Amino acid sequence: MNAPKYLSTFSCVGSACEETCCSSFQVDIDRATFKTYMAVKEPGLGRDLQRYVKKLREPRAPGAYARISLTPSGACPFLDEARLCSIQNRLGEGALSETCRAYPRETWERDGRRYLGAKLSCPEAARLCLSAPDAMAFPDDRDQRPAEDGATARWAVHAAIEEVTRDRALPVWKAILFAGVVTETFLSDDPPAVPADSDLLQSIRAYTAQTRQALLAEDFAIGDQALLQFRILTGIALSASAKGSAHNRFPKIVQASLDTIMAGAEDFDGALRQYAVLYETRFKPFDDAHDYALRNFVLNYLYLNRVFLAGPVLPQFQNLAVRFGVLRLLLVGLSGARPEGLTLADYAAVVSSASRIMDHDATVSPEICAALDAVEPRSVSLAVRMVIPPA
Ligand code: SF4
Repeated sequence: MNAPKYLSTFSCVGSACEETCCSSFQVDIDRATFKTYMAVKEPGLGRDLQRYVKKLREPRAPGAYARISLTPSGACPFLDEARLCSIQNRLGEGALSETCRAYPRETWERDGRRYLGAKLSCPEAARLCLSAPDAMAFPDDRDQRPAEDGATARWAVHAAIEEVTRDRALPVWKAILFAGVVTETFLSDDPPAVPADSDLLQSIRAYTAQTRQALLAEDFAIGDQALLQFRILTGIALSASAKGSAHNRFPKIVQASLDTIMAGAEDFDGALRQYAVLYETRFKPFDDAHDYALRNFVLNYLYLNRVFLAGPVLPQFQNLAVRFGVLRLLLVGLSGARPEGLTLADYAAVVSSASRIMDHDATVSPEICAALDAVEPRSVSLAVRMVIPPA
């Protein structure tokens, strides 16, 4: 099984979790587990299972046959006072549904190989993934690549983006910028995943080497687009925050961060100036010293979501660029809110709480695309502008 290094030490921290997965998540129940639950006779638990586990009117898939109804506050009704799962406590781990047993892990197969990844909406997975330079290393990197005859243009572009993202000589935002230009150059017509000829693979390799050199040499300034970027990113952060519940940390993080950026500013221009100063004086020194943190977020995102390997390319790029822009914006704000400076725990909190809403609420991704398309329809260059630093 191919898996990033950080997963070898992952284990759920249970009741010590800052933001347990037993709240505000949709928990689908597979058919076999549903039948087991309906047969439970344990006093109290059997009644609660009958009451809270409801068969879906139209089951969507074998794994989504029924669903747990959350309490009005958004918590799982089976979370006990010690913040532990009462189903697991009383019936054992074997009684958990596939959704609960697997989270935050996800497995998939491609080209005869098996892969394992983790969702960073889990605070412990985020902490492990962001806190070590080699957390996203694989025991055998060659296993990440398709066999030569299985290589497609999509695979070659995906691999090129991953390779450039791993290059610590380049700031990670430049790697996302690279993702924009290389996908526009080679995947703009959404090619099917059929084997590519060696000339095409050769040109992708040559283009990657050439563009990487250009990115190393060039500086990019956001210039008079800074206000537009700031408005879009704050708008998306606020809109995602409004989807949070009492159990999410994200709304509080957004408020603390944006309050700091806006403090005392009379208008958006004033807030933008403060944002640029915080970026340069408070955020950048810490981020430069811990450049692997956001880089590992991007690597995990590319890996887990198999970004650009299937489906329309532009929405995937818009989501990657905007998510990165929003995370960085929030960290810049927090850097000003922390007298002692940022810590990697701030990175894990921002990434996991944002992922909890952005990855699990199906309305977020289309809203991100719609927000960008409303300004410049189907524009890669607008999405690229979401990652250029404000200063
Ligand atoms: S979010 Fe992660 S660490 Fe927290 S309870 Fe769930 S699996 Fe465990």
